[in-house]
Amino acid sequence: MSSLPPERLAALNALPLDSTRDVVLYWQTMARRTRYNFALQHAVETARALGRPLVVLEALRAGYPWASARLHRFAIDGMADDAAAYARAGVAHHAYVEPEPGAGRGLLETLARRACVVVTDEFPEFFLPRMLAAAGRRLAALGVRLEAVDGNGLLPMRAAERAWPTAPHFRRMLQKRLPEHLTWFPAEDALAGARALPPLPDEARAWLDGVRALWPDAAAALLAAVTPEGARALAALPIDHDVPPVAFRGGAREGDAVLRGFVERKLGSYKARRNEAEDPSNSGLSPYLHWGFVSAHAVFAAVAEREDWTLDRLAPRPNGKREGWWGMGPDAEAFLDEVVTWRELSYNTAHHVEGHDTYASLPEWARATLAAHRADPRAELFARDALEAGATYDALWNATQGQLRADGRIHNYLRMLWGKKFLEWTADPEEALAHMLHLNNRWALDGRNPNSTSGITWVLGRYDHAWQERPVIGKVRPMSSVATARKIRVDGYVRRYGGRGAPG
Ligand SMILES: Cc1cc2nc3c(=O)[nH]c(=O)nc-3n(C[C@H](O)[C@H](O)[C@H](O)COP(=O)(O)OP(=O)(O)OC[C@H]3O[C@@H](n4cnc5c(N)ncnc54)[C@H](O)[C@@H]3O)c2cc1C
Repeated sequence: MSSLPPERLAALNALPLDSTRDVVLYWQTMARRTRYNFALQHAVETARALGRPLVVLEALRAGYPWASARLHRFAIDGMADDAAAYARAGVAHHAYVEPEPGAGRGLLETLARRACVVVTDEFPEFFLPRMLAAAGRRLAALGVRLEAVDGNGLLPMRAAERAWPTAPHFRRMLQKRLPEHLTWFPAEDALAGARALPPLPDEARAWLDGVRALWPDAAAALLAAVTPEGARALAALPIDHDVPPVAFRGGAREGDAVLRGFVERKLGSYKARRNEAEDPSNSGLSPYLHWGFVSAHAVFAAVAEREDWTLDRLAPRPNGKREGWWGMGPDAEAFLDEVVTWRELSYNTAHHVEGHDTYASLPEWARATLAAHRADPRAELFARDALEAGATYDALWNATQGQLRADGRIHNYLRMLWGKKFLEWTADPEEALAHMLHLNNRWALDGRNPNSTSGITWVLGRYDHAWQERPVIGKVRPMSSVATARKIRVDGYVRRYGGRGAPG
């Protein structure tokens, strides 16, 4: 029925498909795009096989942790792009923005009652796994099958049967398993097959209108972004308004433009310039990848096209090396090592390591060395508020926090420095972890992602090895603002992001 690789499909309850019902429902939660979307493609193919219309539910809750004007605006930009794409394909799309926490309760079940099957996106982080497991049980009680599709990375998460502790280990496994999956890409236009679907019959349309009367579609003003009405509609939502929208747009259209711009203008200097503070050559894709506006497959396809690459360029055998396996140029290979190896290692950890965001999940050597230095005197302690305000004595660090507050992200290389200082400035490593998670997930557009947790736990030793022992941080890898400022030019960056103080 479906051209989905089997490892990408997980049944969230044991019920069979019920072909007597009226529609197929795609509950779009994390893959907020219509291009290169395995879950949507699977929903369309299932609807075609059953001869049923497709209905899409794309909702945004008000009560999730760190819900804010910033995150909502970015997500709603994406809903607007999706609404336009579904309208063009003649598919019913219900874009629902919860007006208050809990108001959306019952919406999924109401739509699911008419569904032969509900298809949704799998995502291994934040509240999503719990939400999907609970939905699987609730839909089972209604007799409805729930299927989750993993479109997160080039390698399905289930194709790696366990967690890998370091990037070299993971890379070697990836090089063995990936070739097969590089031939199994999602369709560029997941809605291509939707044009052949039957339209909603009048009776079903009336039913859907009834559902919309109870849970109204997101107001056009809210979807239409930066109009005064849109701003007022956003301001009326009960979310954190102290975290304001950023200056750039979310959504699949903008995500595709960012990807194209990167491949055309920056990829060619990625290796040499990705860590520069001035005009760096990084992609800026992480917020778009996180919200599912851009898929890993779209990124890979764009890079492969620019490199004029074909599958036969892969090295005949895995070499476990960062470069030389893909058969592309050095910049493309350096970029793929981040967006494939490191990113998918994060998803591997999130999928396989129970409690991967807890202190107890850190490698034993890291916990042991941090325990040995638990009582070391700290030169200076900062409360969470001072850290959040970027009010330390360290100008460069304050600027990184300033960038996080202003732009919802931090420069690639400086993000490591941002994380590393928490160990020095908090009473114990558990507090360092808690503060990092809170600040990153509250302010970063790409927060609440497997990469958030992996980056933050990397700061505390995950994926790394022991270094020379030092006070407070023990054998965990050190990083200082002074050394960073010697490595890259940061004056302009510090001025731009208002970092006051001295490098420390
Ligand atoms: C303390 C700390 C916190 C972090 N928090 C996040 C976060 O909340 N969300 C997030 O997406 N990344 C996070 N990272 C990882 C990394 O810093 C960002 O992914 C990267 O800076 C995003 O910028 P870019 O898209 O321009 O990256 P590029 O250099 O253009 O890389 C392309 C893509 O590769 C992936 N990638 C790059 N570096 C890493 C890495 N070290 N680990 C995993 N994947 C990577 C990302 O998906 C990124 O978008 C964190 C790192 C640290 C040290």
